[in-house]
Amino acid sequence: MSQTASVDTRIQLITTQQAPGSTCSPDLAQGPWEFDPQPGYGPGASMADEIPTTAPRQGELPDAYKQASTEDLHARIRAAKETLGEKLVILGHFYQRDEIIAHADFVGDSFQLANASLTRPEAEAIVFCGVHFMAETADMLSQPEQAVILPNLAAGCSMADMADIDQVEECWEQLMDVYGPTADDGRQSVIPVTYMNSSAAIKGFCGRNGGIVCTSSNAATVLEWAFERGQRVLFFPDQHLGRNTAKAMGISLDQMPMWNPNKPLGGNDEQSLLDAEVILWHGFCSVHRRFTVAQIEAARAEHPGVRVIVHPECPMPVVDAADESGSTDYITKAIAAATEPTTFAIGTEINLVQRLAAEYPQHTIFCLDPVVCPCSTMYRIHPGYLAWVLESLVDGTVVNQIQVPDDVTTPARVALERMLAAKPPAAAGTSA
Ligand code: SF4
Repeated sequence: MSQTASVDTRIQLITTQQAPGSTCSPDLAQGPWEFDPQPGYGPGASMADEIPTTAPRQGELPDAYKQASTEDLHARIRAAKETLGEKLVILGHFYQRDEIIAHADFVGDSFQLANASLTRPEAEAIVFCGVHFMAETADMLSQPEQAVILPNLAAGCSMADMADIDQVEECWEQLMDVYGPTADDGRQSVIPVTYMNSSAAIKGFCGRNGGIVCTSSNAATVLEWAFERGQRVLFFPDQHLGRNTAKAMGISLDQMPMWNPNKPLGGNDEQSLLDAEVILWHGFCSVHRRFTVAQIEAARAEHPGVRVIVHPECPMPVVDAADESGSTDYITKAIAAATEPTTFAIGTEINLVQRLAAEYPQHTIFCLDPVVCPCSTMYRIHPGYLAWVLESLVDGTVVNQIQVPDDVTTPARVALERMLAAKPPAAAGTSA
């Protein structure tokens, strides 16, 4: 892995004034254990987001890991991996630091990684280098005897946290008061659709209420599935994916009211809910919300002929101004498929963009947002934590296990299986 691709390295150089540029927070240069005891998502794109009081906290990391050099940590991780052999599989999300990806057995988006772990039934431990909802999904799809481990429990997802199960249950109750359970034509009055980037509890809610899960590459297929069975859709947690997808299907913006969980009827009047086709939950990804139309205009001015590809978690005006939009899998495949040297401006998380730039030197690839600002929570997975969970496994101790209760897993699997039936698993694709 090329060190020029490393966001860690760039942040260190910028913060020590050895390289030009800026980061969204100079605190990124510190170890994440500096922030673990504090409330909040830590430095990075989500640092201004409100964190739920119930969000898991990470306990103290032993000093030996905090004080170890990068080289020492890498050596310890390699040694532990070798000792554990087939008993271990390490999954690395696209948005992880290169220093973590270097040790991953599989690299991909959350759903690809959950599926990849299914190919390793002999593994006793699945170490998921990603965020909390991803480890939950892996646990729900894994064998009961396999332990899914999240190296830093503070690695949540601010977007997933924006739809809390109590708020969703309350919203559902209010919608049932307005709609009743069944439409005049016999369909369900409203179908809940949750993005993969949501808690297991929310996926379970969808399973229990005739709903389904979607990813960023199959959202249109899933919405079609939902409209065959329901008069309208309640889409959460990401308003932007919901809006971009529904708009591309021809649904007008005035039939997409937003649901603010802190207001009665989500801040809507009854008539606008009756007229709604898609009710959008008031959630967003702070990484993808950073991209702007002005950045696209600047890229086009500076690089005539640039191909602009953004993630559908970006706001609608950004998706509209781009040449293409698609999931992380779409973006990586689009770049891999380009046969002529091409300039790409990409609107997704900086670690993935930097890695693609290093992997495809024949192209010019840059992040639309010039500020080095990673996903705050993905960035909480540091090699120190990975070394700690692996060496604990070598010592026979499972730390940071993520376990979803059976009464949540059963309905959540129903919602996931509906998604797989809506589209063949081989093409079911990707999520952020
Ligand atoms: S990039 Fe956005 S959606 Fe993905 S984990 Fe980070 S905050 Fe959550």
